[in-house]
Amino acid sequence: MSTPPRLPTEPFSADDINDRLTAILDAVPDAIVVIDAGGRIESFSAAAQRMFGFDPAEVIGRSVNMLMPGPYRDEHDAFIDRFKRTGEARIIGIGRVVSGRRKDGTIFPIELSVSEATFQGNRSFIGFIRDVSERKATERRLEELQTELAHVSRVSEMGQMASTLAHELNQPLTAVLAYLGTALHLLESGDGHEKAQSVVERAASQARRAGSIIHKLRDFLGKGQTTRRPEAINTVVEEASALALIGAKQLQVQSRLELDPAAATVVLDRVQIQQVLVNLIRNAIEAMAHGDRRELVVRTHAAEGRIEVSVSDTGPGIAADVAAKLFQPFVSTKTGGMGIGLSICRSIIQSHGGDIRALPNPAGVGTTFTFTLPTGGPAD
Ligand code: ADP
Repeated sequence: MSTPPRLPTEPFSADDINDRLTAILDAVPDAIVVIDAGGRIESFSAAAQRMFGFDPAEVIGRSVNMLMPGPYRDEHDAFIDRFKRTGEARIIGIGRVVSGRRKDGTIFPIELSVSEATFQGNRSFIGFIRDVSERKATERRLEELQTELAHVSRVSEMGQMASTLAHELNQPLTAVLAYLGTALHLLESGDGHEKAQSVVERAASQARRAGSIIHKLRDFLGKGQTTRRPEAINTVVEEASALALIGAKQLQVQSRLELDPAAATVVLDRVQIQQVLVNLIRNAIEAMAHGDRRELVVRTHAAEGRIEVSVSDTGPGIAADVAAKLFQPFVSTKTGGMGIGLSICRSIIQSHGGDIRALPNPAGVGTTFTFTLPTGGPAD
């Protein structure tokens, strides 16, 4: 316990109090800007001077909107007008991150909290401002790193499928060559014009098949910025399954899609959600590689306020030593496995406001991974 401060023998004078108050305010690391009811700056703390680069003489008496870039500037003017008309204080930016503008014109993110005080019958507003440029820069860098990591993981996933993909592309291309050879032959013989036409059409359809595989791959492997828009969940699941199941037949995996027609639109990042599905489906296929039963089911289900998407296999189940830390990075039972797939899946799903879990199948064989995506309303 500290000893109580010595009581002053003389009462403080008004000047003393003022000096002390100024010294205390100047020591506060957050910038403090006091404005009057008309939005004019009444006081500007030392931290505010450092943060914005203005001397008090340059700002006192002027509108506080000189510290804001548009559109906050206009928003603030509208707020002051409204306040003058109605006396109702609708303070913008209570405890939220907005933008500030320095004397040199640079714009930077600030966290702003505003309080109201009445002094001698006059209302003032006190803004507490924290510069959050560094925190925002770190958040941005983390987001970039996550996007890069997710991209590396997609490339690695497809890299592992390279020979299967080559095979899958080679098939339609070989068919195209064969059809074109036949068409040429028919045309040369002079009497098969109509037949040749139908053969060329078949060649075109095979070329389209190859093209669509390449198209999906290009989308999937692109570095694309994360963009969320409303997407039909069943189409997203279908496309991802088609990509992940390439070559699954050769591995004797029987796959089935059970898509709930009531599962409608969800706001999501298509490439990211497809990455999650490709990961879960490839893991399921790998888990069943050495078993007798190789059955894979991908389901969607519309529930109250969310869509559930699940991938079930008939593999050996999750190994006991990884079960507890399944979604942590670098956890793998595979030789050469990176062990980042599931941790990326979890961070993608969580960033969409959903969750992901793995449970043993009720019948006792295999595992079901289920993730949820909020729809923001009741099941439709
Ligand atoms: P990786 O596939 O590189 O090992 P993941 O993060 O995708 O990385 O998976 C981590 C581990 O989780 C795998 O090594 C495996 O042991 C286990 N696992 C994932 N999916 C399944 C599954 N469907 N059945 C059994 N084990 C699985």
